Amino acid sequence: MAKTGMERLKELEKEIYKCIHCKACRFAYSGEPSREGIGEFTGKQSTILYEGMIDSCPAGIEYGWEAFWNAGKMWIARSILSGDLEFSEDVRDVILPCITCGQCSAQCENKIPTVDIIESLRAAIIESGVPMIEKHALVDRLVKELNNPYGGKAEERFKWAKDAGLEKFINNKGAKVGYYVGCTASYRQIEVAVTTAKLFEKLGVNFTLIEEEVCCGSPFFRIGAVEIAQELMRKNLENFK
Ligand code: SF4
Ligand code: SF4
Repeated sequence: MAKTGMERLKELEKEIYKCIHCKACRFAYSGEPSREGIGEFTGKQSTILYEGMIDSCPAGIEYGWEAFWNAGKMWIARSILSGDLEFSEDVRDVILPCITCGQCSAQCENKIPTVDIIESLRAAIIESGVPMIEKHALVDRLVKELNNPYGGKAEERFKWAKDAGLEKFINNKGAKVGYYVGCTASYRQIEVAVTTAKLFEKLGVNFTLIEEEVCCGSPFFRIGAVEIAQELMRKNLENFK
């Protein structure tokens, strides 16, 4: 049984408390040393220059408020652990705009695993009973109805294979290799699926596409809906047997 979001958050407590709110994770080096930055800040110990640095957290840039930058989220995690803050739709709406790009983690001198913390927070939010936002609920419905989040017809999942003359690999009995294609390659970036399948063919790999393949669950892991993601994972494992 997978750990709950709150359990994961508690495991990350030491990391969360390493955050000194320096906000270095907000910036990235522009590659231009003399590029105008946001100016200078004189603190207790010294003057910090931000020349050459640019804002680089997409969520912070979009919304501007402290809570949306990573440093704010680390303090939200701390407040949840200490019991000073409870999960709510407002907290959810602050935590969700992060695109989990990991830029803040790369910038943090304390090497705080920010994305793990943010994803644990998201899982704990869902577990606490706060509902999904409308767009995520729509994705959930689409995956339940059509097995993919793009709204593509379930029966057209392997249309790309039929169009590319690769139909013989659909449910290819006796093949030792199963190619899990995924929704994005099946419905959006079909050139990835076609090229991969043709490469297998050229290499003489006897592979099969599995007709019952469903969404891998990644979008649900990202938004904290871990149970839905695991259910999809189980379905795919069953189908691959
Ligand atoms: S996460 Fe790291 S870089 Fe960001 S405010 Fe905290 S200590 Fe500073
Ligand atoms: S992972 Fe989230 S909080 Fe960190 S830089 Fe990317 S968008 Fe911002």
